[in-house]
Amino acid sequence: MVKEAGIVGAGGAGFPTHVKLEAKAEYILLNGAECEPLLRVDQQLMELFPDEIIKGFEAARKLVGANKALIGIKGKHKKVVSILKERIEALQVGGFVEVKELEDAYPAGDEQILVYELTGRVVPEAGIPIQVGCVVINSETALNIYQASMNVPVTEKFITVAGDIPNRLTVKVPVGTPIIDVLKLSGLQSFDDYAVIDGGPMMGPIMSNLNGFVTKKTKGLIILKKQHYLIRRKTTSMEQARRVNKACEQCRMCTDMCPRYLLGHNLQPHKMMRVTNYALDAVEEQKSAYLCSQCNLCELFSCPIGLYPKSNNLYIKQKLMDKNIRFQSAQPAFNARKNREYRLVPSKRLIAKLGLYHFDQPAPMTEITLNPEIVYVKKSQHVGAPAIPVVSVGDHVSAGQLIGKIPENSLGAAIHASISGTVVETENDFIAIRRD
Ligand code: SF4
Ligand code: SF4
Repeated sequence: MVKEAGIVGAGGAGFPTHVKLEAKAEYILLNGAECEPLLRVDQQLMELFPDEIIKGFEAARKLVGANKALIGIKGKHKKVVSILKERIEALQVGGFVEVKELEDAYPAGDEQILVYELTGRVVPEAGIPIQVGCVVINSETALNIYQASMNVPVTEKFITVAGDIPNRLTVKVPVGTPIIDVLKLSGLQSFDDYAVIDGGPMMGPIMSNLNGFVTKKTKGLIILKKQHYLIRRKTTSMEQARRVNKACEQCRMCTDMCPRYLLGHNLQPHKMMRVTNYALDAVEEQKSAYLCSQCNLCELFSCPIGLYPKSNNLYIKQKLMDKNIRFQSAQPAFNARKNREYRLVPSKRLIAKLGLYHFDQPAPMTEITLNPEIVYVKKSQHVGAPAIPVVSVGDHVSAGQLIGKIPENSLGAAIHASISGTVVETENDFIAIRRD
């Protein structure tokens, strides 16, 4: 049912959930950390749909055969924590499902950090949680699993619209809705002076244009003035970054604060800076650039002189990929570094440093219904091969109907009509449906 419903990781990764749930694991973890500043989806879903999320999570637990199902949520969301605890008791799943409170630090929602915080286990370098007996799913994904058990496929997406705007809100919209329609809910009509981040302020890229469409992975749209600090940082070209990076003073703050380094991995961004600035050719050392999660902490928080160590990692990684040089870890097990707990970055400090303090406001869930005239459902909204259309131009489809299937013997996800109407395009990257 999960496969048929076209569920993919709703936290932003887009990995097909049915494949994840084929594994057998000791633990299943619910990622409700939502550590990206300003995003407000998961915390509200857990408050509004606790029963559905717990039931979906419990169903996933049974599928992977886990003994323990742990919900990771920041302790600061006191009301949600108490609702979840109460509903776990009421649903009589307390023997398996448990709420674990997380600190308000970034990046608490990084899958590998979450695994460590909830189980004390460290995912190996370049590894995935199943290597230490864990499967991780996002809260919205658990909600979608519950919906799948009711034969309801994924056709809608919850999105937070936030930033330097009059109306901050969270809203449910049909997959394939034009992004510009969602942006206009912000109260702005013209976006000439603004830039939009697709996702959270830390890891989300800036949208090159606003002509896109909502996918199953869209989580947040952060609207900021073009001259905002964060936008200026994020629009720095690799060429500019490399020039500025020559000022690296090797203080190693980027390394000492790096979440992956603190987990015990051998990722040391200050050494990568050395590699580029002094044209060192020790390939073995360079390979650790593959271990960077691109959380952006070094670049947007840790470096005291505002350099670009993450971009430098990307630069080195790209050069290695061009030469077909891959990373392979020789070490089977890792231990978090002893001083890790003293080096966590509090979200409030991060938000202040990013210049988002004034925009760190509630973005309440709204009942607004968007009825786009036409939706463009992307064939590839997930990791794997694009879906193959099973409808043709001129066909009439109903909301929820299958319109694209997974190619034979491939990793992928099915896609469904998000509105009822007539198929007007199946070529290129989208299946477009015009409303009845
Ligand atoms: S972006 Fe920086 S802080 Fe984050 S994992 Fe990579 S090197 Fe570490
Ligand atoms: S924190 Fe900045 S200056 Fe210090 S080693 Fe890292 S990149 Fe260089």
